[in-house]
Amino acid sequence: MPAAALPSRLVKGQLPTKLCRSCGRPFEYRHKWRNCWAEVQYCSERCRRQRPPGSAATPAAT
Ligand SMILES: [Zn+2]
Repeated sequence: MPAAALPSRLVKGQLPTKLCRSCGRPFEYRHKWRNCWAEVQYCSERCRRQRPPGSAATPAAT
């Protein structure tokens, strides 16, 4: 069973939300995620590229 099933009708103001894994802020379902909403973990491309806090095992910067 899908972890995050979408309602049959998406009403503005009643969209499903998630918490961004990077910045921790809630964000709403967007049309572009209709095929992958269950896998979306970040509010934006920018956040997706950032490492989540705690796993910053960055090698020495050159
Ligand atoms: Zn974010």
